[in-house]
Amino acid sequence: MKHSIVKRAISVAHRSVVIALFGAFLLAVAGMIERSIFESWSRQIDARLQRASHIANQISLFDERLSMFANMAVASSDWRWVIRYENAAPLLGRAIADATAMAPDAAAGRFATYGKIANDATMNMERQAMGLVQKGQKSEAEAILNSRTYATEKATLASETGRLVEATRQSLQSDFFSVVRFSQLSKFCLVLIGIGILWAALYRNLRRSEDVFAEAEDDIRYLAMHDELTGLGNRRSCVEVLNDKLHDISIAGRKLALIAIDMAGFRKVNSLYGHVAGDTILVALAKRLRADEDSGTSAFRVGGDEFVVLSEFANDAELEDQCNTLIRHLEKPIAAASGTISLNARLGIAKAPQDATDPQSLYRKADIALQQARSEQAEGAVHYNTSMDDRIRSRARIETELPGAIERGFIVPYFQPVVELSTGRLVGFEALARWEHPDQGLIAPDAFISVAEEAGLIDDLFFAILQQACANARMWPQHLSVSVNLSPTQLANPNISSRIRAIVEEAGISPGRLEIEITENALAANFTSVRQPLTDLRKLGISIALDDFGTGYSSMQHLSELLINKIKIDKSFIRPSVDPQQNAKIVRSMLGLAASLGMKTTAEGIEQEEQAAELHRLGCAYGQGYLYSRPVSRLACLAMIERWSPLAARQASTIREVG
Ligand code: C2E
Ligand code: CA
Ligand code: CA
Repeated sequence: MKHSIVKRAISVAHRSVVIALFGAFLLAVAGMIERSIFESWSRQIDARLQRASHIANQISLFDERLSMFANMAVASSDWRWVIRYENAAPLLGRAIADATAMAPDAAAGRFATYGKIANDATMNMERQAMGLVQKGQKSEAEAILNSRTYATEKATLASETGRLVEATRQSLQSDFFSVVRFSQLSKFCLVLIGIGILWAALYRNLRRSEDVFAEAEDDIRYLAMHDELTGLGNRRSCVEVLNDKLHDISIAGRKLALIAIDMAGFRKVNSLYGHVAGDTILVALAKRLRADEDSGTSAFRVGGDEFVVLSEFANDAELEDQCNTLIRHLEKPIAAASGTISLNARLGIAKAPQDATDPQSLYRKADIALQQARSEQAEGAVHYNTSMDDRIRSRARIETELPGAIERGFIVPYFQPVVELSTGRLVGFEALARWEHPDQGLIAPDAFISVAEEAGLIDDLFFAILQQACANARMWPQHLSVSVNLSPTQLANPNISSRIRAIVEEAGISPGRLEIEITENALAANFTSVRQPLTDLRKLGISIALDDFGTGYSSMQHLSELLINKIKIDKSFIRPSVDPQQNAKIVRSMLGLAASLGMKTTAEGIEQEEQAAELHRLGCAYGQGYLYSRPVSRLACLAMIERWSPLAARQASTIREVG
């Protein structure tokens, strides 16, 4: 994942909080501006209201004064009152002009008609009265000022002035209400705009956080469905794709193969060269599988070194081609830091709809075919067939029954004689495990040794055989040795040598009579780890024989370092082959090698007189095989020792395995 989803979600949430705070701040600022505008407007309206009532007062005041000056002028005939009158007259005019300017148009218009006429009329009458007094006509002058007309005009002026001021006040009041309304409206709009901006910003953020979560969900889904190392789909995605493909082919009437792939030797490389080399190999294999993908195939990594390819195919020939291509590509050498590595691909195939139509069964059957490919070490692909199920079932039964069989002593050693080739003398026996099954009779070790190894029962089995083999050897003449087979995996057990010693001591035989056989393959893989247990065994006086020699890859240096006493030439080199010359050459060089390292040799699988003679001629010391005897029970073994003679050895092949 690129960034932590938590971090990204928190950053989006932060941004949302900041946006919300910013929105609130904007709203508060807008509210404050609105408030201050409202207050300044209402102050202005207030001031104008005060001014209007002030002007109204002035008008009545000046009007009163003018009347008073006119009356004083008429009463006293003093011309100074006339002067005062004329000085005051413009003040009234200006106040009236101010009032008209402030007033709404309609009221101003009305005042200009009625108020001004009344004012002009009173002033005319006053001036006329003052003029008459100057001429000495005092009573006429008084008559004018006391006339009804004069009083009416005066009253008209007063009432029109009152009306004008009232109209002004009303208009200002309505202005005030407008301001209040405007303020409310603007407040509403501001809140609306604020909410709008906030919503838009938050919505954007919401979408972004949705994207973040959707992306995270994609990442999680990708991780859940893919193998991190190789980028191939994992087991879960394999099951999903398999489901879909099975559905598709069932509708279209096509065929699908589930090819389970296992790379033989991968684990060994992993433990020998480390996980970095292992990872390099897996990545390279995944790359090849992906390169082979087309519209009809898809590849998955479903386990450590296990891959699955789903492939649609038209006919068996086409599928065979696909498998061959797969094997060819997968087995190409891989360059790793530790050198070039080649692995063998094992393929197990199950087909739909032929073998199964549901994913679980198809998967299981491909796995069964793969197990078969592994145990057969098959070169090509192994196709599932129903007989494999029986094998699996019997293997499962063995796995459940084996612990009880070991405990109850049903696993017993059978003994096969080892003969000195030069004299035909009996030198010892190899103990080979047999399962004396109450229902199924004698079961050969091939059927249960590998199960015991896989199920972790091999130590118990080995100690049971060793203990019985030693107990039997105690009853034999002292010069006869006994060999027991040790599985490669057991060498990893650090207590192996001390437990072997305890059993040998308990049985009361000399450790020099015991030989432990280990296969050559076991050495090739873990040279360093087997050195200590083998050295410990040698120190106890126990001999070590290298079993199945020629089938592994041990170097001469390893052989000499590991204090091996004996090599047992594998029976594949002894039995008649297409190229006897070649086999003879190999055997000769193995014998030469053993001689140069001071080791003894036993040839396994001698079935014919001529083979024994030829091996003796080539310098092989000991022989073992059906020519002398098959492995026999402990009682038959005692009888064999009793009757053994160099001559009898020649006819020993007539002694049949008892069981
Ligand atoms: P191995 O140790 O190589 O044993 C020799 C096998 O060759 C035996 O098979 C034996 O019966 C068979 N054999 C002997 N002479 C001839 C012959 O002339 N011709 C042919 N064709 N075969 C011959 P067996 O007893 O079936 O054992 C098979 C393998 O099982 C053994 O191979 C050994 O690897 C393993 N095994 C047997 N017992 C034990 C045991 O107690 N522990 C372990 N770890 N492995 C065991
Ligand atoms: Ca053996
Ligand atoms: Ca062998």
